[in-house]
Amino acid sequence: MTSKVKGNIRTSKLVNEIQPSGIRKFFDLASSMDNIISLGVGEPDFVTPWATREACISSLERGYTAYTANAGLLELRVEICEYMKKQFQLSYDPKNEIIVTVGASEALDIALRAIVDPGDEVIVVEPTFVSYAPLVTLAGGKSVSVGTTVETNFKLTPDQLLKAITPRTKAIMLSFPNNPTGATMTKEELEAIAKIVEEHNLIVLSDEIYAELSYDNKHASIANIEGMKERTIIISGFSKAFAMTGWRLGFVTGPSDIVSAMLKIHQYTLMCAPTMAQYAAVEALQTGMEDVNKMVQSYKQRRNYFVKSFEEIGLPCHVPGGAFYAFPSIKDTGLTSEQFAEQLLISERVAVVPGHVFGSGGEGHIRCSYATSLDNLKEAVTRIGRFLEKL
Ligand code: PMP
Repeated sequence: MTSKVKGNIRTSKLVNEIQPSGIRKFFDLASSMDNIISLGVGEPDFVTPWATREACISSLERGYTAYTANAGLLELRVEICEYMKKQFQLSYDPKNEIIVTVGASEALDIALRAIVDPGDEVIVVEPTFVSYAPLVTLAGGKSVSVGTTVETNFKLTPDQLLKAITPRTKAIMLSFPNNPTGATMTKEELEAIAKIVEEHNLIVLSDEIYAELSYDNKHASIANIEGMKERTIIISGFSKAFAMTGWRLGFVTGPSDIVSAMLKIHQYTLMCAPTMAQYAAVEALQTGMEDVNKMVQSYKQRRNYFVKSFEEIGLPCHVPGGAFYAFPSIKDTGLTSEQFAEQLLISERVAVVPGHVFGSGGEGHIRCSYATSLDNLKEAVTRIGRFLEKL
């Protein structure tokens, strides 16, 4: 409905610059249909393990319903720091170098707002999670997209990075394992990127929310490379590996000057992450790693099946090393990714996301999440195969 209020458009120039997420349209269409197999959602099909849910219930029974410290429960910050040390050999000070946030989503937002001045450029390596470029815009910056391609298995190359850097470049946003491509980067590959980052004095925002979901090699964090920890903000959280999307719990670790700047924004906007979710997360870190490992094994099995099946029905698919997405190429069909997704949904009732919504390099591909049962995946492959035969 258009506003009856006369005069200028009432919303800000910044917000007018950004568009609603391209994923939404397909969810809306799919939710009005029956017998849909959805490969569209980016969240685990597992329910949060019981011990974690029980810890939340117990915190409520004990009456822990007040705010926590702005940066999060100290007990949780200590657990997260131990986790980062054990899993990724990264040491952070629980008092100054970490904030518990409302999902990785909030962490991304406050990190950008803490470092970007008007007109600063932030390099966004695409295809990637849909929020990055809009968040850069909302922070007053200018996003500069660098499109990776299937030829390099969707890894960022040093050459691509060098070409995108200008005197206004402030930071680079990396996300490996990647949503939507599943691409990962090895320590050696990141070292070549780190060298350029250091030479140009950039800040790295490294979204490592899928770190645990690395199937072929152990996850490599860019912060682990010499000289990088003091210029890297790691964004992570509980949504994916711990199957906790609805709990809205993430965290950020980084150098204390940037973290304390972020804390100021967090303090005024969110105050603190939900208390009961924080108590649950303490339990998840203390006793939940076995559950995480079981889920990882299950995703790996599904990935292997899915990628092989795509090849068999004639959709070339690079092997995603992590996360829970396959990103097959649909170029040979002659359809755009939007046409492919729309026609597949209407004719075979399989929901996928067109690659172009993830930015440069995404067109010609579709994102198919394999965070759903093997039975669903098998049915989806049969339907997609039938769709391809009809083209
Ligand atoms: N980063 C990436 C790469 C993601 O895929 C997502 C969720 N799809 C997020 C961040 C947001 O996660 P959270 O639920 O913790 O806000």
